[in-house]
Amino acid sequence: MRNSYNGRGSRFSGSRNARPNRSKFPSKNRRKSNYEWSEMDLIRTIEQTKQFAAPREKEYVPTHTFEQFNIDFRIKQNIKTLNYKIPSPVQDQAIPYILSGRDLIGIANTGTGKTAAFLIPLIDKAFKSRNDKVLIVAPTRELAEQIYNDFRHLSSGMQLFSALIIGGGGMRKQIGDLRRNPNFVIGTPGRIKDMIQRKLLDLSEFNNVVLDETDRMVDIGFVQEIKYFISLLPLQRQSLFFSATVSSKVQEILNAFVQNPVQINVKKRETCANIQQEIVKIERNQRKVDALFNMLRHEDFRKVIVFGNTKWNVQKLSDELVSRGVKAGAIHGDKRQNQRHMILEKFRSDEIKVLLATDVAARGLDIKNVTHVINYELPKTYDDYVHRIGRTGRADKSGIALTIVGA
Ligand code: AMP
Repeated sequence: MRNSYNGRGSRFSGSRNARPNRSKFPSKNRRKSNYEWSEMDLIRTIEQTKQFAAPREKEYVPTHTFEQFNIDFRIKQNIKTLNYKIPSPVQDQAIPYILSGRDLIGIANTGTGKTAAFLIPLIDKAFKSRNDKVLIVAPTRELAEQIYNDFRHLSSGMQLFSALIIGGGGMRKQIGDLRRNPNFVIGTPGRIKDMIQRKLLDLSEFNNVVLDETDRMVDIGFVQEIKYFISLLPLQRQSLFFSATVSSKVQEILNAFVQNPVQINVKKRETCANIQQEIVKIERNQRKVDALFNMLRHEDFRKVIVFGNTKWNVQKLSDELVSRGVKAGAIHGDKRQNQRHMILEKFRSDEIKVLLATDVAARGLDIKNVTHVINYELPKTYDDYVHRIGRTGRADKSGIALTIVGA
């Protein structure tokens, strides 16, 4: 069987048969985030990544310990409880600037520890000055939830209140939470706008604002919402801006948002050395879904994220796998928030072993011990590919990314 798995995560014979054109390394242009690439581009990129295996990134030596930061001891205690031993590079560099009140541009992607980099100093600020209010805007419900959970852990026992303002269900609770005058409001653009229009949220009160993963918000189409929010904010504020990339649209937002900012750049190498990337080529007479099903039966595939390109395809594939007895669930934009939440929790706790997702639904997901990412459908751009495969191989664990082609 050509696409059978050897059990150790290395050999899909199809990758050798794919005959990549090794003479042409994809040019810089080709790797631009919005470049629509072909199957051949993908095969070439994966082969070349293997050929020119990236050297390991130099180990970063932080210049601070958490103990040295001028923050309340309760936060330090909470950091210890989370078992964060030393600051990550973005934390090491950003926290002192944010504590000093500067606006900041962080060029950082997920997995760098950027959430704690802005939460730690902002929690300290709000704790010391109870009238301070913090607004954090994130592109997806899942990312907003992760920030909210990190906030709860880092501010435990400090009597700071927060509201999670995200689309899909829970409107009554969210309104109730906003009426309690929370110190932190964390949410997604659509629902935040809704709350502003219902006069339940007054942005002129927020003197601390974080735009997180701004490039993703722009990709999803939230440019107008973000500009609208900026127009409502007080002029006197601290503005923190995070984005992995800065396109011209992102730059426009940035210009309207920050004042005299300090910029730090801590992007992790995108194609992680600890992710093994392989191509799986399907035989002409074989059905793609059968190939996937055969892989998933292998015992090494313990925690797997399968990517498709549309909500419909992802749901259909999930239904098919479930009907074949696979413990699987799907997340995509048509699912209600509580359904998505439930499926993610089941996946996290190993109640289901396969999570099917669209790119947007999986943005920024940080789930430990994902053994495999499978591209059932080809990602549309290089950035999407890198983001997808980065859901495995997290926290220095190794992971395997498989891309199915040729069916
Ligand atoms: P983020 O980039 O904010 O999504 O964080 C990625 C992961 O790193 C999350 O699971 C955090 O809990 C974790 N993390 C953040 N800061 C640290 C740290 N200093 N040490 C260890 N893990 C951390």
